[in-house]
Amino acid sequence: MDWNTPDLNSWPAKLVIRVGKKLRSNKQFTQEAIDRNNARAAEIRQRRRSQHAHKNHYQVRRSEDTSNSHQGGVNELGEREYSAFSEASTLVEHKDHTEMLHRLAHHDSFDSLVDQMVDKHVLKDPYFDSARIDVLRRVSTVHERLVETLTDELWKKIADDLVPADAASLTLASKTLHQKLGSAPLEALNDPQNKHHRIAFLRSMDHQLPRHLLCFPCAKYHVRSKPGKESLKADYVNNPVYLCPAAKTSVLPRMRLTQDRQLPYSFLQLTLRNSYSGAHGIDEEALSRRWKHSESGWNHRTRFMVHDGRLLLRVVSQCFVPPAATLTKTAERHILYDMQEYKPLFSHCAHWQDGDLMKMCKCWLSHVPAPPESYMQQLKKAPKINRAVAHPQFIVRGCDWCRPARRCPECPTEYLIEIQMMEDPQDPVRPFKHAIVVTRWSDLGNGSSPYTSPEWTAVNGLPVPTEEEGGHEYESFSHVGRRAVSGIFESHISGSIPGQRMLSLNPKNEKLGEEGHGWY
Ligand SMILES: [Zn+2]
Ligand SMILES: [Zn+2]
Ligand SMILES: [Zn+2]
Repeated sequence: MDWNTPDLNSWPAKLVIRVGKKLRSNKQFTQEAIDRNNARAAEIRQRRRSQHAHKNHYQVRRSEDTSNSHQGGVNELGEREYSAFSEASTLVEHKDHTEMLHRLAHHDSFDSLVDQMVDKHVLKDPYFDSARIDVLRRVSTVHERLVETLTDELWKKIADDLVPADAASLTLASKTLHQKLGSAPLEALNDPQNKHHRIAFLRSMDHQLPRHLLCFPCAKYHVRSKPGKESLKADYVNNPVYLCPAAKTSVLPRMRLTQDRQLPYSFLQLTLRNSYSGAHGIDEEALSRRWKHSESGWNHRTRFMVHDGRLLLRVVSQCFVPPAATLTKTAERHILYDMQEYKPLFSHCAHWQDGDLMKMCKCWLSHVPAPPESYMQQLKKAPKINRAVAHPQFIVRGCDWCRPARRCPECPTEYLIEIQMMEDPQDPVRPFKHAIVVTRWSDLGNGSSPYTSPEWTAVNGLPVPTEEEGGHEYESFSHVGRRAVSGIFESHISGSIPGQRMLSLNPKNEKLGEEGHGWY
């Protein structure tokens, strides 16, 4: 029993409670009393303010004007929700002329609002027969006549100044324009030199063809063999999305995820097409995978997210590592590198050799502590004991150099390396071990083409076609925007962004490649 608690039934306690109630009643704490007091206080404040205004000769402003000044589009964190990729600077750079011209044909500027609504509804219908697409191409006669008033030569001159894809879209925009321009702009697309323009032109019809998928090596639409049931398999060659006549003579556009897994470009197309309707593609969640590479012991898990019309990827690769004290140079290389291809065993972009990526992994491995050694074990070795050896710090924080996340200066890829405690279910003696965890985030682009999409070509280190052929150079740090890929990804999926600051993966921008021997 606690001797300090008062006995509420004793007469002194009862007396104190009774007297206390008399002296200080509860009446002033009721809601009515609070409301009354608030009203009176507001009145007093108002009176004081008007007196002050009268004395200093100014007009009193009503307090409601400023109290409700919350701005729209601000979330609970006080941040404005807008995407890093839709900033004005990037929109101006790559204006989509093809889409602009298609919109001319699509009543957005010509027809009444009612027509527009009806047609949008029709386009979203998955059972809409794409052969009836001409129904959608009614153009107002007033504007048709305006187009007619310009001469054929003038329209041809305009078409000559446009890039081939836009000229082809222009000739299909209306019957009048087709009569004036003829089919020459369409035939120009068959020229092998205009292959990328042909792809850009065909891709503008993507939303009208739910049962077809654009094949980039052929620059043709093929019928999907299992619409809606496409599944990403490790053996993607024997599970094609469509039957392509050039399957054996062309190279399937794809990306290396890890040593035994690839991502064919068709799956990127399918997930991005899902925004038109469920019949056009597959959900991005269906692409997530988790696998273990039995030889190296690395575990990988992938996750995808569509953001602002682009597919973002996250690959988390992890592997158990021994304590730094027992680690030799050779053992370190066996953990990090595939000894057949001489490439890292975790997921990486095409520029891993140039920057600090491998040096960072090695620095992290050097921070792994040794397992605890009891005082008895220490005494058996030498007649001295050390507390730090018996109770080592298991949370590995790394050093100032290796802790920050890095962004590749050549492509939209970011890396975060950590050492974490993991449970190894296969080891009954010492189940909790340290593991190196390499997280990689990449922006895979908007699915426009595996040959010209700036993000895709940058991540895979592919050669970019010239501007005339429809290519764009990619510069990572000018595209990073307000938030990096990792920030966008993690804030949508886990609700928090990684706390680490972001540095450049290759601060000196040296491109030594195979010759720069520091990576091995
Ligand atoms: Zn094909
Ligand atoms: Zn370090
Ligand atoms: Zn890169």
